Amino acid sequence: MEYAQRHGFAPVNALTVPCCPDCSARSGPRIWGQYIYYSTLIRLRECERCGLIWADARIDPDIVRRHFERTYKDDEYFRIARKAIFEHLSSTIARLAPRGARVLDVGGARGDLMATLVARRPDLDATVHDISSIATASAAARFGFATLTGDVSVLVGHQQHYDVVVLSDVLYYEPNLTQVWQVLPRLLHPGGSLVLRLPNKALLIRLGGIWTEIAHSRRKRLLQDRIHFYNPEHIFLFRRRYLRRRLTDVGFARVRFMPSPPLATRHPLGVAPVLLGKIISRASFLALTLTPSMLVTATFEDGSAANA
Ligand SMILES: [Zn+2]
Repeated sequence: MEYAQRHGFAPVNALTVPCCPDCSARSGPRIWGQYIYYSTLIRLRECERCGLIWADARIDPDIVRRHFERTYKDDEYFRIARKAIFEHLSSTIARLAPRGARVLDVGGARGDLMATLVARRPDLDATVHDISSIATASAAARFGFATLTGDVSVLVGHQQHYDVVVLSDVLYYEPNLTQVWQVLPRLLHPGGSLVLRLPNKALLIRLGGIWTEIAHSRRKRLLQDRIHFYNPEHIFLFRRRYLRRRLTDVGFARVRFMPSPPLATRHPLGVAPVLLGKIISRASFLALTLTPSMLVTATFEDGSAANA
């Protein structure tokens, strides 16, 4: 109560998520830490069965929507800060896409990634999906892309098949995770590729959590209000083990992890850790990915597994 009063808490509707949102197992004993977000105490829990890590409270969707409208409307964010990310993603997609391929960008916002891709590969046919109609209207008006508007249920009803499906920095916002895993193989031709961009900070966050456990008093731990390296906007944290197994479950093969560049930084030293991470990744033949973000690629192979 004292903490809430001191920090000006306001009433916020939130739903608790006590069971694993993917496999429905009752939560395991491991809690990775706790944080405060929009006046709500949220814990990061790890599922003992499937290994998913999830935020155990969901904030009122209206508040989340307003938050994103405020935070990400900045034009500069799309054009400049994400330039290196888009270039790297485009080169990866271009390598996977056959001539004249159809590419779907799920949660592709205003189409900037697909515009970068098509500039590199004019033969590709890009479609942009987003939950926001303002975003997809912009993608259609500025670049002439085909668009799909709505949440994951729009993808469930979609009949078209693609050669490459991309989800760049969207999977950890999607409340209906199980439905996403079910729909992804249905959107792809056999042999088609999936490209995911995700944070790669689970190890850092876990080490930070261990430090909090051993170096802080019980009282201090009870009042923990942030988790180092964890973005409180996210509702999931994905580890490689979970992703590999989950993708294999729905019919994907050749699951690969590789480093992805971070958001642009003005600080000259900001690039040093990323460079080091890239070198380590190359030296270990991609066995180790230590950059703050990673790309995951997988090939859709087995149609029968996806329907099971
Ligand atoms: Zn689970």
